[in-house]
Amino acid sequence: MTQAKAYAARGADQALAPFTFERRTPGDEDVVIDIKYCGICHSDIHTARNEWSNTVYPVVPGHEITGIVRSVGAKVSRFKEGDRVGVGCFVDSCVGCATRDLDREHYMPGLVQTYNTVAPGADLPTYGGYSDHIVVKEGYVLSIPDNLALDAAAPLLCAGITLYSPLKHWKVGPGTKVAILGMGGLGHMGVKLAAAMGAEVTVLSQTLSKKADGLKMGASHYYATNDPATFEALQGAFDLIICTVSAEIDWNLYLALLKPEATFVLVGAPEKPVPVSAFAIIMGRRGLAGSMIGSIKETQEMLDFCGTHGIVSEIELTSIQKLESAYERVIKSDVRYRFVIDMASLG
Ligand code: NAP
Ligand code: ZN
Repeated sequence: MTQAKAYAARGADQALAPFTFERRTPGDEDVVIDIKYCGICHSDIHTARNEWSNTVYPVVPGHEITGIVRSVGAKVSRFKEGDRVGVGCFVDSCVGCATRDLDREHYMPGLVQTYNTVAPGADLPTYGGYSDHIVVKEGYVLSIPDNLALDAAAPLLCAGITLYSPLKHWKVGPGTKVAILGMGGLGHMGVKLAAAMGAEVTVLSQTLSKKADGLKMGASHYYATNDPATFEALQGAFDLIICTVSAEIDWNLYLALLKPEATFVLVGAPEKPVPVSAFAIIMGRRGLAGSMIGSIKETQEMLDFCGTHGIVSEIELTSIQKLESAYERVIKSDVRYRFVIDMASLG
């Protein structure tokens, strides 16, 4: 076992603070990674503060991890010391169940998330990327393309794949009108990815304060949702709306912006349920769907797509000591557009 330095939350109302723990002894199939950067996803905040009522304390959040391979086990064939790698939202999955499907493993029972999951047979939960190193099975390690900076690539491991997967699943491309709802960490990746896929992209943000950035990232249109005229102007306009909003909003208003038979996809995960009117979906046979991250194969495909198109996240580097103020700024939608922790600050 190796001792890891980290930051953990010890309770819903407690600030994250220094924490040390033992990483497991690496096996033949394991890759040991020195973590260089870790993005701050809104899910880290929901979890640190137990907003989804599923947190096991102490919790070490962080699932947008990039780093350098420190060592590999004897059976590891795809990675070697010094490689630039990433780890996303899960580090193991079901290998035995009858429904196992290699490219849907993130939807199968038995998923071991990078943090806050007590794996079968384990005493302790998994601890995530707000730490100096991590031990991960080779099959759950991703390669970072050489042309992508490790700090700005970190958010691709969650924000990037969470938008890439529904964009692919709902076959977005030239001629598709896509709206991205919420211009935060996930949302800005959605704008860049959908534009690179050739779609006509509209941003729906609370205000126009980030309009210039949105247009620069590839959006063709940008509307403020605090203006009722937006909802009149855009009735029936979209083939796909991806909602990245982390709070409860009136989905019925947005369902009316779909074309007939089009789909509103939730990736944002608000704490409380949101009521949906039957008429908002039966009129026009509209769909309301959800989507969660993506498989390992799809995550590598997304990273390679980003390598080809030179896509990374817009980031603000921060230190581990400033986590609490970073969290507060994320909650206020006051980050352009993803905080990434420089793990050198762990000391
Ligand atoms: P984020 O950076 O905080 O972005 C969320 C955006 O939602 C904000 O930038 C803001 O956009 C908008 N928003 C926030 N509060 C709002 C309100 N009260 N009304 C209207 N709009 C509001 O968060 P994130 O990291 O992108 O994560 C977004 C959500 O996705 C979180 O709930 C997170 O847990 C979830 N998530 C899901 C998955 C998945 O696999 N499905 C993966 C990762 C994260 P504007 O400023 O433009 O209005
Ligand atoms: Zn995330």
